Amino acid sequence: MAQPEGTLPPGGPLDSPRVFKLVLLGSGSVGKSSLAFRYIRNEFRSILPTVGCAFFTKVVHVGTASLKFEIWDTAGQEKYHSVCHLYFRGAHAALLVYDISSKESFLRAQQWLRDLESEILPGDVVVMLVGNKTDLDEERQVTVQEGKEFADSKGLLFTEASAKLNHQVTEAFQAVAQELLRREERVAQTQKGDPQVLLNEGPHKQAKCCGR
Ligand code: GDP
Ligand code: MG
Repeated sequence: MAQPEGTLPPGGPLDSPRVFKLVLLGSGSVGKSSLAFRYIRNEFRSILPTVGCAFFTKVVHVGTASLKFEIWDTAGQEKYHSVCHLYFRGAHAALLVYDISSKESFLRAQQWLRDLESEILPGDVVVMLVGNKTDLDEERQVTVQEGKEFADSKGLLFTEASAKLNHQVTEAFQAVAQELLRREERVAQTQKGDPQVLLNEGPHKQAKCCGR
């Protein structure tokens, strides 16, 4: 389980953990804020206060390594599909959320991914596709298979979850943390000139500059 912010793992390094920006993406009402609230506070409320472009931090431990998530949530502007490009800028990871009881939200998730990729090179960001609201299985409009196929076709991580029931929420964030550290390790090996890694994966490119 994650420890309170600022707490170092026992016997861990003295440096503070590296910060990774994680953005929440998806249509309005799919449960982005609820997933964050569940993850950070382990609570669920049917009405959440609207906070202007809030971000939360949380220290996560993966084995002996740690990282700090800076989780960015929107203030509802996604309803107009107008999240500003600064929101994406510098993101290391994204939770791309849809509601399994809304086909529309699943189709919109594909558009959100295109938006993200127009700001950041696809290989530079870890994206977890999350089909939220599994407790609404009786109203399901998107099958697990559809979610999985889309994720596989785009090289995304995938899970279904329920912020309401606290199902697979921590696991989703934890899997992103693991993947971020795994990639970082690969980059470090590439920089050391490990030929095995060089053969398999090119060096990570700089995030595209938002000069518009
Ligand atoms: P956002 O607009 O994507 O940030 O979505 P919210 O987190 O504000 O949630 C929108 C609505 O969906 C609220 O009424 C939530 O209570 C509800 N909601 C969020 N997650 C779940 C879930 O896992 N199951 C169910 N049944 N409702 C959820
Ligand atoms: Mg919200």
